[in-house]
Amino acid sequence: MKDQQLKDTRLFEEVMQENRRQVEKWGIQDHTPFEWMLYLSEEFGELAQAIAENYYRVGGLDAVVKEAIQVATLALKIAEMYQPGRDGGIAGTAGERED
Ligand SMILES: [Mg+2]
Repeated sequence: MKDQQLKDTRLFEEVMQENRRQVEKWGIQDHTPFEWMLYLSEEFGELAQAIAENYYRVGGLDAVVKEAIQVATLALKIAEMYQPGRDGGIAGTAGERED
């Protein structure tokens, strides 16, 4: 499969829709970095399963897109939390944190 270079900008709106869906379902979440990584790993596994189901069985393309959007949404949330200067984000390195 060839990289499509993110030309379909509707995908970014799908990420924003997925973010709204998650916030409606779970509220604003506050987790440790390791918990966020755990949730991303769970979604990553679901994406792997959707790709395998599509490739080897009869899984649909829509399931692969849905799981990839969920991975992208969580990955972008993590990127946003790690951006310097963000309110409520990750508070620096181990030497800078108070925990
Ligand atoms: Mg999922």
